[in-house]
Amino acid sequence: MISPPTPACEAATYDGQISNLRQEFNQITDPRATNCSYSLADLLMCVFAMFSLKYESLLDFEKQTQATTANLKNIFGIKNFSSDSCLRKVLDKVDWKELRSLFKKQFDQSRKLHIIDKYHYLEEYLLVSVDGVEHFSSKKIHCPSCLTRQHQNGQTTFTHSMLCAVLIHPDQSEVFVMGTEPIQQQDGSEKNDCERNASKRLVDWLSTNYKDERLILGNCLGTRFI
Ligand SMILES: [Zn+2]
Repeated sequence: MISPPTPACEAATYDGQISNLRQEFNQITDPRATNCSYSLADLLMCVFAMFSLKYESLLDFEKQTQATTANLKNIFGIKNFSSDSCLRKVLDKVDWKELRSLFKKQFDQSRKLHIIDKYHYLEEYLLVSVDGVEHFSSKKIHCPSCLTRQHQNGQTTFTHSMLCAVLIHPDQSEVFVMGTEPIQQQDGSEKNDCERNASKRLVDWLSTNYKDERLILGNCLGTRFI
């Protein structure tokens, strides 16, 4: 006789992960007034779907076929798809620190499911790769928080970058993001200074949130045990 799936088995499935994520998105503080057409969880789920499926832009995601939209609603549990402009307007106001905390929750869930056991290195350590990611770049659009790059021809490029700490293992093809830290204007104008200053904040956050784990952090600027 086949045993019914346990809660742990269900949580390990893709549907279980999506359902958990949806519940977590429901807990994120909504920065808008209460009478909104789209729930914040739907908006966040749209963005998650967009990145999961590697859409090239918000506009591409908005302009897909009805059949694809119906599939995405089904797979990601999205009730209403919002417009590109609505997504931009709302997401800018969401507290990124609340979203960052979801990486730790996901790690705890993976720990319970013994997925993290496969990532042990030298018996008890976890290898964490830290690197910078530029996730916005424009020569026209910018905001007061943008990092800037001056070119010899007088042009300026406006960017947003963040450091990502990612759990890796030489024998595993999947990696897990453990935490992120935005690189801020005050972190400096040189790339290495920026990453070093942001990495101090990231290391503090990782030390606090993963205090029960033994981490080996590495990037192009050096290696550190925490
Ligand atoms: Zn900006």
